[in-house]
Amino acid sequence: MSDPLRLADIYAARRRIAPFVRRTPLKLSGPLSRHSGADVWLKLETTHDTGAFKIRGATNRLAQLSAEERERGVVTVSTGNHGRAVALAAQRLGVRAVVCMSELVPENKIDAIRDLGAEVRIVGRSQDDAEVEADRLAAGEGMIKVHPFDHPDIIAGQGTIGLELLEDLGRVDTLLCGLSGGGLIAGIALALKSANPSTRVVGVSMERGPAMIDSVRAGKPVPVEELPTLADSLGGGIGLDNAWTFELVRELVDDYLLLSEEQIADGMRHLYWQERLVAEGGGAVPVSAILHGLAGRLSGNVVCVISGGNVDMQRFTGIVTDDGQGKGVEQ
Ligand SMILES: *Cc1c(COP(=O)(O)O)cnc(C)c1O
Repeated sequence: MSDPLRLADIYAARRRIAPFVRRTPLKLSGPLSRHSGADVWLKLETTHDTGAFKIRGATNRLAQLSAEERERGVVTVSTGNHGRAVALAAQRLGVRAVVCMSELVPENKIDAIRDLGAEVRIVGRSQDDAEVEADRLAAGEGMIKVHPFDHPDIIAGQGTIGLELLEDLGRVDTLLCGLSGGGLIAGIALALKSANPSTRVVGVSMERGPAMIDSVRAGKPVPVEELPTLADSLGGGIGLDNAWTFELVRELVDDYLLLSEEQIADGMRHLYWQERLVAEGGGAVPVSAILHGLAGRLSGNVVCVISGGNVDMQRFTGIVTDDGQGKGVEQ
């Protein structure tokens, strides 16, 4: 790792993104508090304009581009929460953005990215083809490729969640958070542990393709087989050339949990029926962990980061109206 990331970088990120990114609400969950015996708080990252926290990191990254870099523009291949965040951050900051995607991407996802002001470039028949085109635009035309997690400006941006939690609660005893590439959990953990090193940080992934957890166990970044999962926003690898998040996660995350598809669905159902919230699988996993008693003995202030709400509503209603026997969860 080059220059280490510091708390001051997260404060700087907050000043930078404040004009563009809303502070999100924190809500006490009565049902989860009664269930666990702790004060369980839900950090509602579902309330961003893009429906997920990634607008924080993307805005912090794009806001630091030079005038000349802004001119050249940014490029990404994500059509999910990262792609939407880059598109909207670019629109708000007046930066040109190109999102490369394959012919297989459904029309509604293409429209969603276009509606946020980004150019869409359709190439090939796989995510890999889209990746090649993005690399070509970066190498050939000098466009800036914006990584979804493995960059200090992205991590610092996500860390602004931690500052908001400290202001709202003073002290966080346990943080539960979805874990994929690790930018989210590393940023928040850095902020929380700077204030109180004894804060326990728990990363939650799905059994079907937990790239970071496999890598931590292997002692180095390892490839992961991508499988369909309700927590699709937690899918994908951490990069075999991972430069930042692998080391930060190893240093800052205390425990790791793995969830089954049925457990993930239970979290989504709980949030919908008991808390009146629509969360995607990756956003519901902290709640699943508490419901199933996987997070150990809890006390004091426990925060669940409800990281996003971008879920196909047809699919969602199928999951939450399920009788709990697994129908609608099988893929
Ligand atoms: C990206 C994402 C995550 C995981 O963030 P990482 O920084 O990759 O660990 C969790 N939840 C949602 C909704 C996401 O979009």
